[in-house]
Amino acid sequence: MELELWENLIDKVQTGNTYLIHNLSVRLRRGKKVLGTTKSTIIRATNDQQLLHLSNDGATNISSSKTITVEQFDSVDRVEKFKKCVKCHKKVIQIAYTLTTQCDHCKRTIRTADCRDGIWAKVSFTAANGEPVTLVMFEEIITTHFTNTQEDIDIQSLSQTLLSLKNINVTFDDNNIVTDLNFAPA
Ligand SMILES: [Zn+2]
Repeated sequence: MELELWENLIDKVQTGNTYLIHNLSVRLRRGKKVLGTTKSTIIRATNDQQLLHLSNDGATNISSSKTITVEQFDSVDRVEKFKKCVKCHKKVIQIAYTLTTQCDHCKRTIRTADCRDGIWAKVSFTAANGEPVTLVMFEEIITTHFTNTQEDIDIQSLSQTLLSLKNINVTFDDNNIVTDLNFAPA
């Protein structure tokens, strides 16, 4: 899991040293969990021998992902298209059909026409053991595999394409978020 360090905390760490860090927060960044610092984050250097000998591999395996082959998706449970704030890239909840819109997140007033489309989709399939599985695909995956340009996303054709896929190799993480897709062209 990645850790994002901000401002004055960056100077407190050096490559090759080991630290004990208290009071972190977990955030979602483009569908991936990352650790972030808060006002109460404390960073202390440590000489703990057990921690010093932890390998990098051990650290990166904490978040696991798996790849399985899905014969076909059973359903597209939801596709949502929304407008993104041109500055903070978060979803603008109440897009105004006027020249300007105020972002609900960063409170900036922006030109409505500058807000690009964002999209996410939820699909279901039945795993080999009979269990139903629901996966979420975020914009990066959708635009990489199913559209030519970001401006070009159409909910209906995306749903049709998703349901027409066969033998899909899906890689997803602990949160059932799709991180990679592979399929033969139809
Ligand atoms: Zn914003």
